[in-house]
Parts: sequence; C-alpha cells; structure tokens
Amino acid sequence: MASLSFPTFPNIEKTYTALPNSFFQFTNPTPVSSPNVLLWNDDLAEEFLFDHWRKDDVVTAQFFSGSNLPEAIKPFAQAYAGHQFGHFTMLGDGRTIVMGEFQNRRGEWFDFQWKGSGRTKYSRNGDGRATISAMVREYIMSEAMAGLQIPTTRSLAVVKTGEPVLREEIQEGAVLTRVASSHIRVGTFEYAYQTLSLDELESLFRYTVNRHAPELMVTENPALSFLDFVMKRQVTLVTNWMRVGFIHGVMNTDNMSIAGETIDYGPCAFMNGYFGKRVFSSIDTNGRYAFANQMGIAQWNLACLTNSLLPLIDSNEETAIELAKSKLNELETWFQESYIRMLGEKIGFPNLTEKDLPLLRTLYQWMQDREADFTNTFLVLEGVYTPKDSIYEDSRWKDWVKDWREEKEKQGIREEDAIKLMRKSNPSFIPRNHLVEIALTNVRQGYMSVAEDLIKRSQNPYIREIDYDYGEEVPKGGDSNYQTFCGT
Ligand code: AMP
Ligand code: MG
Repeated sequence: MASLSFPTFPNIEKTYTALPNSFFQFTNPTPVSSPNVLLWNDDLAEEFLFDHWRKDDVVTAQFFSGSNLPEAIKPFAQAYAGHQFGHFTMLGDGRTIVMGEFQNRRGEWFDFQWKGSGRTKYSRNGDGRATISAMVREYIMSEAMAGLQIPTTRSLAVVKTGEPVLREEIQEGAVLTRVASSHIRVGTFEYAYQTLSLDELESLFRYTVNRHAPELMVTENPALSFLDFVMKRQVTLVTNWMRVGFIHGVMNTDNMSIAGETIDYGPCAFMNGYFGKRVFSSIDTNGRYAFANQMGIAQWNLACLTNSLLPLIDSNEETAIELAKSKLNELETWFQESYIRMLGEKIGFPNLTEKDLPLLRTLYQWMQDREADFTNTFLVLEGVYTPKDSIYEDSRWKDWVKDWREEKEKQGIREEDAIKLMRKSNPSFIPRNHLVEIALTNVRQGYMSVAEDLIKRSQNPYIREIDYDYGEEVPKGGDSNYQTFCGT
C-alpha cells in the first residue's frame, strides 16, 4: 500500500528498548487485507491526544490494525516467562507487539500495544492472531473494569482484519489496541532471574523502578521497597476483584502486572450466583484459579517475584531469604486486613474487625447455599432493589438481615453512613455472562450496537435510580455451566 498521510502524532517513546536485547525484539505487525474499525474509545482517545483520529477513518483502521505505520514507530515484542498453572515456561509476546509509549494529558507515560497483530519471535506454535469475539470481549471486560474504578489495562480500539482465524470454528480476526501503565509482568522478572545474567536482572529492576516508582531508588533497600510496592498494589487489585465477583481465570505469573493492573482478559468473567469455588475457564479443571482462591494465588505469584528479586535484596543469600520471608509474612496480614475492610464496606460497616467475621460468614454461606446473586444480594440489603427471586423470603435471609441491623445499631453506625459505604462498594451493574454472550453473538453477525450499549452501561456501574433495571433478571441456575476459553 502507498504510504499514508497520518494525522499529527502525539510524542512517542520506546524507553523499553534501552534494555539489553535479551528483553525484546524489534518486530512489525503483519499487515492485514481489509481493516475496519469496530470499536473506538473516544474518551480514551481524548485522554491520549488521539482525539482527532476517527472510528470511520481509513488511516485509523490502517494504523490500529498494524498494517501501515509512520516512520517514527519502531515496534517491538517483549520477552518473558511465567509459571503457568504452577509450571515454569518460556513465553513472550506471541501475539502482541508494543507500538511504543504515549503520554496522557497529565503527562504520564503508557504502553500502547497491538494484540492479535501477527507472529513474533515468541509465538511458538501460535498464529499470532486473535478472533473478533475474543478482542471485543477484552474491550468490554476491561472497560467495565475501568468503569468499576478498578485498576486495569484499557482498550482503545478493535479493528477487524478481514482475514479468517482458525479456532474451533473459523472466525474473522481482529486487532485490539491495549493501553497499560507498562507490560512488565512478574514473569518478566522470572525470565531475567532464571535465564539471564545478574546485570540484566539489575537493568530490568532499575528500568521498572524508574518507570513506576522512582522514589524507591533512594530507599535503604530498593529491592525490598519495590517488593512492598508491587505487593500493596496486588492486595488492592485482588481485594477489588473479590468485591465485585470477578474471576480472572488464568492468574499465571505472566498475567500479573507489576503495576497492579488487571491484565490479560482471557477466560475471565463476573459470577452471578455466589459460589466460592466458582470456575469458568474450561482448562482450570482443578479450580486453581477459582473465585475464593485468588488471594492465595496472588500470594503464590508474589512469592515467585520475591524469589526472582533475592540477589537484589542482598548479596548474601541467607540474609536475602530472611528479609524476603518477613516481607511475605507481612503480605499475608495485608491481604487479610484489606479483605476484612472490604467485606465490612459491602455491608456498610466502616470498621469491621475479625470478631465480626461470623456475621459475614453466615451471609456468604447463605448466598452459597441458595445460589444467591452476588451483585443483587447487596442491592437488596441496601434496599434499592426488589428482586423477583423468592429466596429473599427465606427465614435464614430475614434472620440474617435482622442480625445485621442489630449489629449495625450496636456499633452506632448511622443508616446514612452505611448506605453511603454500600453505594460505593457494591456495583448495581456488571457485564453479566449472558449479556456479554448476546453482545458477542451480535458482533459475529456484524451488529455492533448491543456491544456498544453494554459498554456504555458499564461506564456507570454504581448507579442508584428509582425504577432503574439493575437486576437484568439473571437466568435461573445462572451461569453455573458457563465456560470461558484462553487464547482464542
Ligand atoms: P495467555 O494465556 O493469553 O496469557 O497466553 C499465554 C502465552 O501464549 C503468551 O505468551 C501469549 O503471547 C501466547 N499466545 C496466546 N495465543 C497466541 C497465538 N494465537 N499466537 C501466538 N502466541 C499466542
Ligand atoms: Mg498472557
């Protein structure tokens, strides 16, 4: 194709490529035959000075499918490894390519990356491509996460390629533009620690700290401070997932971002009926990444990160291990405290303590026994939703609500304060599985409006309005047979 005239480009950087060559490879996306923009995120475009680019523009489709690039762009794929279902594996960007780093209006730098843009050095046996369904799904879920105000990578665009992708059936391909604070993963550190030199591990460490928390470089033990930083962000992140009923589904260490953003939307889903062992992913047959396991798995992953940082924590291995162990012990406490605080806020208690936990256990046990909807139950409790579901006539539910009221009174919590807390803790809208599936069926048939409506509703998920249809009456038996898939 003849070279295009691109709209003015914001400043672009590629600081990552100052790292040793072992961390990346310069790679261009593979051009596609007839790109067309399916989804374009106006708000995000505005935030990154891409606002004069348009959904219906030929140049936008060319660039965001990776088919035609201005000279200034030197894209690259990143190397990493990861523990997948507990086993160490060499990976790397098999179907994503970083276009570079762009600044938002506040002057902060973010990676922009094409996903589904063709093979790279790290593709192994994969085709480097992605289906329309998988990329629109990532767009819907990540933007819903942003709407919920939970740290996440964002989605700027989905461009269909006009080319078939062979999965279980043939689907059209698509390229998603993902925006992230960085794409450095726990698995990037494991890769450096396990396969590269100490100098290379140090380069990655310095780069990452400078990028995400430069102030840590002047602390007494920067590696330990960095660990502290990553741990705290993960505690916040996973606590938030537990708050809204989100199951990531594939919390391998390569899918855990150092910056603490939700990343790699593959088999993830929000659950309807509460069930601690809920798993949606077709390959998670042992329930390793089940809903209630997520805090434990985050700790396991952070132990992998800790291990990879040992030589930077102290040159004496024994000392390093001692320091690391005490940090990991703290982590356990942070998770526990953060989880308890979150549980309290969901029922309107600002200072829940361990001794109040039986109250929560009874509620969760009831929800599990009756497959009560995890989102709607808290709306019922707040008094803003009258469900059609008869389980709320249960004496166990009514008794629990009575206990909750009494305890609230005993602790001197004012009604309006409780409501205020519940309002900001409990979403009234999540992208429920049946809604996501309806949207994707439409997308595969060439209709975008259902997906667009869903994305729009997800932007305001804490809304409380009289007569608002919060509930999306959940199909009975809900989503217990729902299945999700990796890498589609
Ligand atoms: P995921 O399960 O999406 O986290 O992917 C695990 C690894 O497989 C990552 O390194 C991906 O880049 C790679 N991968 C997934 N799908 C493909 C594909 N279609 N082609 C090449 N590599 C892929
Ligand atoms: Mg991944």
